[in-house]
Amino acid sequence: MGDAGTSNDGLLIISEEVCAEVVSRKDAFDAVEAVFGAMARGDAYNFPVIREAIGYADALYGFKSGFDKAGKSLGVKSGGFWPGNMAKGLTNHQSTIFLFNPDTGQLQALVGGNYLTAVRTAASSSVSIAHLARKDAKVLGMVGAGHQSTFQVRAAVEQRDIEKVVAWNPHPDMLPKLGAVVEELGLEFEAVTQEELGAQADVIITITSAFEPLMMADWIKPGTHIACMGTDTKGKMEVDANLVARATVFTDEIAQSISIGETQHAIEAGLITETDITPIGAVINGTHAGRSNDEEITLFDGTGVGLQDLAVASVAARVAKEKGIATSVAL
Ligand code: NAD
Repeated sequence: MGDAGTSNDGLLIISEEVCAEVVSRKDAFDAVEAVFGAMARGDAYNFPVIREAIGYADALYGFKSGFDKAGKSLGVKSGGFWPGNMAKGLTNHQSTIFLFNPDTGQLQALVGGNYLTAVRTAASSSVSIAHLARKDAKVLGMVGAGHQSTFQVRAAVEQRDIEKVVAWNPHPDMLPKLGAVVEELGLEFEAVTQEELGAQADVIITITSAFEPLMMADWIKPGTHIACMGTDTKGKMEVDANLVARATVFTDEIAQSISIGETQHAIEAGLITETDITPIGAVINGTHAGRSNDEEITLFDGTGVGLQDLAVASVAARVAKEKGIATSVAL
């Protein structure tokens, strides 16, 4: 949490409600952009991810952790996926972020991770759109209509002069909820086929739990930017490996991209190698030019790294403390 706390501050507890109040989309964008830049400079690194099927409640549980020396964030996000939660009126993804003082190792803050996961994931695709999409992009294509999708849309349309959102989802009954958010934003919404989506969209976000390609290479227009956000586990897949091969590929972290991200399949098929993938932080830092022309297809593989969680949790802890709305407990 940077300079937000000292060893004498005790433990700050930041609820989900407070996180939503104090971390805006702009805050999340700035925090995620900064940490991606720090990662590419070697000032911040993620520790190996642990993710286990625990053999109870069909749950997947794990840890994502890291250290950002530049932002002084040290900590871990712990949580996972409980598929039965929806029936209990809870979101399936549940997580909590623990922040530690990097100077002493003392626990500094416990921060609710559910809202922050959604807002930092949306910030990730938004950072990629801001740095890689064509400046004249007008149509956003959404593949996916679950919990994350509305966060993704709200953040994405702030990056370009988007006039229309076209969407497709494997479960069409989920689309009206996404459509209502798009209309609330004052934009046109159209539910389309996958081929129509590719033909219309200038920017595409995929955010599903798919294990097979939902968008094929031949459906995508030249000049499209596509942010693949759903694939965060071995075996998951949202787009045709030939599309990954055709595109100029960027990611949050190469190690995660090739193991649990969208590029795992193109790598396995021998269509690309690790050296074909550029960390988005290099574009942020100005050491890679990013998009080189208006016809190029750019693809961002957003796998979701622990440092994103620590970055937004640090903002939440700092601002909640400044506003006096964090609960403080003596350690
Ligand atoms: P959700 O359960 O609310 O929605 C799931 C979405 O995937 C819906 O669009 C649904 O129609 C679709 N879907 C479900 N099963 C499918 C299948 N077998 N094949 C194809 N599509 C299927 O989930 P969510 O919270 O919106 O998350 C969506 C995905 O994003 C999840 O896979 C999640 O793991 C991933 N995610 C990634 C990050 C990241 O940082 N990259 C962060 C959060 C979530």
